[in-house]
Amino acid sequence: MKYVGAHVSIRGGVENAPLNAAAIGAKGFALFTKNQRQWHAPPLTEESIAAFQTNRAAHGYSPEMILPHDSYLINLGQPFPEKLELSRRAFIDEMKRCEQLGLTLLNFHPGSHLKEISEEACLKLIAESINLALAETRNVTAVLENTAGQGSNVGYCFEHLATIIEQIDDKSRIGVCIDTCHAFAAGYDLASPDGYDQTWRWFEKYIGFEFLRGMHINDCKSKLGGRLDRHHSLGAGELGESIFSRIMNDDRLDSIPLILETIDDTLWPREIAWLYSLEQNKKIQTII
Ligand SMILES: [Zn+2]
Ligand SMILES: [Zn+2]
Repeated sequence: MKYVGAHVSIRGGVENAPLNAAAIGAKGFALFTKNQRQWHAPPLTEESIAAFQTNRAAHGYSPEMILPHDSYLINLGQPFPEKLELSRRAFIDEMKRCEQLGLTLLNFHPGSHLKEISEEACLKLIAESINLALAETRNVTAVLENTAGQGSNVGYCFEHLATIIEQIDDKSRIGVCIDTCHAFAAGYDLASPDGYDQTWRWFEKYIGFEFLRGMHINDCKSKLGGRLDRHHSLGAGELGESIFSRIMNDDRLDSIPLILETIDDTLWPREIAWLYSLEQNKKIQTII
């Protein structure tokens, strides 16, 4: 089963996220657990945590269908020590917020070297940051997202993600999220049938499907290899339509959140319904 959904709003409190997801027909969702533009946030209240759990259960969402995303301010590969410390503290706080909500995943962009250190040194700092966070928490898996390779971001190739994973002490709590727009912008040709197959072969070779904890399902304004993080509505960008049919019929992508971060949220109900309509053999599976 595919858990297709979108990154929904938490306006009014995190407890509204499951309601917002259910309202658009989502079977999974992503959320921020705090205002993502600020370093500090008030702690989650007992009431908010309880209401989140109630709403989550009432709409049939289990933790593996939910992919929280951290603040974009955090850079776990930050070359400047004081700022790195700030990022690490904020990341641990985000992991703990997930734990409080009973959630088991935390998705984040690996980090940026800011042209101050090598990519390799940056990847090492990121791995150290993750190890520190895993040591201070119990149940949350750190989920690295591939990037478009914009600016000085690392994580635009599977080898980068593999290098980080290699250096993680507890491999049961490290995973990856593949963003279709970022992969294409970074040079993985997911738009063509051969490119789709080849991309996943590389994925299997360098990382492995056992680490795949989620995907971001976005079309892309950037050209193949354009290195720009510019999402588009499904079918409106450079990825076209057929990739989404391949995704919806790819068993390797079952039982993980498939999250829309497309640019027009008024289209999300239609995009989710359209994705599910692409599933073939759906009736046969139901009968069996
Ligand atoms: Zn993404
Ligand atoms: Zn993006």
